[in-house]
Amino acid sequence: MVIGAGVIGTALAVQLGSGGQRGGGPRADGDVQVWLLDGGEPGAGTTASSMAWINAHSKTPRHYHELAVSGMRAHAALVRATGPAAYADGGGGGARGPGWYRPGGALRWASAEAGLDELRRTVARLRDWGYAAEWIPVTRARELEPALRIEDAAQVAYFPDEAAVDPRPFVAHLLAAARARGVHVRTGEAARVVAIDTAGGRVRGVRCAGGETVPADVAVCCAGWRTPAVAALAGAYVPLVPGDAPGSEAPTLLAHLRPDEAAGPPLTRMVLSPRLHARPLAGGRVYLEALDLNDEVDQHTPAARVTALGRELHARARAMLPGLAGTARLAGARVCTRPLPPDDNSIVGPHAEAEGLYTVVTHSGMTLSLRLGELVARELLTGRDAPELAPYRPARFVRPEGVPRTP
Ligand SMILES: Cc1cc2nc3c(=O)[nH]c(=O)nc-3n(C[C@H](O)[C@H](O)[C@H](O)COP(=O)(O)OP(=O)(O)OC[C@H]3O[C@@H](n4cnc5c(N)ncnc54)[C@H](O)[C@@H]3O)c2cc1C
Repeated sequence: MVIGAGVIGTALAVQLGSGGQRGGGPRADGDVQVWLLDGGEPGAGTTASSMAWINAHSKTPRHYHELAVSGMRAHAALVRATGPAAYADGGGGGARGPGWYRPGGALRWASAEAGLDELRRTVARLRDWGYAAEWIPVTRARELEPALRIEDAAQVAYFPDEAAVDPRPFVAHLLAAARARGVHVRTGEAARVVAIDTAGGRVRGVRCAGGETVPADVAVCCAGWRTPAVAALAGAYVPLVPGDAPGSEAPTLLAHLRPDEAAGPPLTRMVLSPRLHARPLAGGRVYLEALDLNDEVDQHTPAARVTALGRELHARARAMLPGLAGTARLAGARVCTRPLPPDDNSIVGPHAEAEGLYTVVTHSGMTLSLRLGELVARELLTGRDAPELAPYRPARFVRPEGVPRTP
């Protein structure tokens, strides 16, 4: 039983389905029934709003970096297995298809006034760890992305193995694969899990808002930023940064730009400047995010303020992509909540409160989804711990005094 059909739950369901042997060794029980329940629409939670940059750029410590690198490799392997249909239109890699994957790497630049020391440290650390990261001349960056305005004095780093995915078609692909492997999928308000039944110290099933009870030996909480509330249904403690608390750092601001259709796609790959992160999306749209503006929002920010901050993103985009000026329209600025563990590293593993209760929640979930799906499915299907997941167990967090066991 997987609770939550964002990118994390859906990628796991694929691996648990009847084809689970692919990455998980022999199944203990050939008759396992897998359910995937979502109280909304699959992929419509945080996943839908993700920048979805596939990278291991800022992941520390080293074991978390390696997990992210294996996540990047898992994406590349899925793309190879899928063929040209995996590529999104307008992708930087030349191949075009109806899919989700945009190769072409990432460009990041900085100047002596803004961010250069930090970029130098990042490139040095990544090269030391064997990650593809190179300094390139500004002229080369302009060849790669002709629409970009990059100051002559900028120092540009290129990360050729990085990529981006388009979240909606990616989750649609995973969901179709899960269904093809016999996973039972239930979505919509009636499928929202409102109780996890336990007896004799172990999970027995879940109850849904629509009244249905689904028996289960295992319940995997993949409910994104709502995971603490879902795990608490069985008395377990998952300490994400509270998404809905005033001033919380989990919510972030993003906007989409819809350029003039005649202008063609203004970007083909991820670009990161000190003031703006941008990437191409389907239909020639551009995704925008600025780290400093994230501090200005939480889930309670008034709509008028979100719109004003969206205009600021728009202005920064026009400065970075001058060809857009005047023709690009803001296609919606919004606040979206990240599932944010307090130490930034994933939370993955069983809970002592009930046998069969398991959590998978993480930031960087677009990068990590496929790899976590493989590792978690292998653990659940074989009963053997994956050493790669040892640093991420929920037990590293101690329930503070005064936090009750029941919701
Ligand atoms: C602005 C932004 C930018 C990001 N950029 C990147 C990036 O560049 N690279 C990267 O790798 N990651 C990035 N992330 C992080 C990444 O998007 C998330 O880690 C990932 O989407 C989380 O997926 P999820 O499946 O855990 O959560 P979600 O997508 O939120 O899915 C959880 C699902 O659980 C369901 N659910 C909740 N409660 C219940 C219940 N009681 N019963 C049934 N269903 C329930 C919800 O309906 C939802 O569909 C970004 C996130 C944000 C917000």
